[in-house]
Amino acid sequence: MRNNKKVVLRRSSNDDESRIIVYYRECQKNHAANSGGYALDGCTDFVPRTDVALFCATCGCHRNFHRREVDSEVVHESSSRA
Ligand SMILES: [Zn+2]
Repeated sequence: MRNNKKVVLRRSSNDDESRIIVYYRECQKNHAANSGGYALDGCTDFVPRTDVALFCATCGCHRNFHRREVDSEVVHESSSRA
């Protein structure tokens, strides 16, 4: 028999804590900005470099150039919703 244990995050003392996962998607750095144009490098996913994690291993741009996507799991429902 295999032990199929499910990992469940238990809310212990930090009751109002929600899980926030941040993804970094496409690189949006305009590489043609100084020539007045608009050209992206086509990088679609931020891959942290092993030496400098703030820079993308694929395109070499800083993480800030990548579109940030925040995925949050809020435990309690928002009451502001009509
Ligand atoms: Zn880039």
